[in-house]
Amino acid sequence: MSTAQQTTSQARHVTLPCPSCGRWNRVSASRMADGPKCGVCGTAMHLDHPVLLTDATFDRVIRESTLPVLVDFYADWCGPCKMMAPAVEELARTSVGTLLVTKLDTDASPQTAGRFQIRGIPTTIVFRDGRESGRQTGAVPLAALRQLGGV
Ligand SMILES: [Zn+2]
Repeated sequence: MSTAQQTTSQARHVTLPCPSCGRWNRVSASRMADGPKCGVCGTAMHLDHPVLLTDATFDRVIRESTLPVLVDFYADWCGPCKMMAPAVEELARTSVGTLLVTKLDTDASPQTAGRFQIRGIPTTIVFRDGRESGRQTGAVPLAALRQLGGV
């Protein structure tokens, strides 16, 4: 695909690896609510749940998604992260097509966590056009997540 084609495209989209086969898929925002499946293996992409990002996938998702992306930096042992998890789930379920909700395990993906100087978890960062546009540290309620994500 040519660069010109991408920049003239009106529709916003997300670019994500398939959770099953790992191949990259581009999903337009208008189709995110239709239960999109991987174009290669047919596995459901589950965009109504937070999408797990890793050190290996983070940069490309942020760089190539023209929809705003919210990232929940968390760890499995973190109590406040568990407290906030239902709100993140709810945000993902209710903002399909307007915001891509993702999460990153800071233990499993320490490079990305280090690069964004995550000092305490949970930390929530919203990226717009590939750049950080807002951040919130600590467990916050759904309303604050919505405000951060602009939805
Ligand atoms: Zn696949």
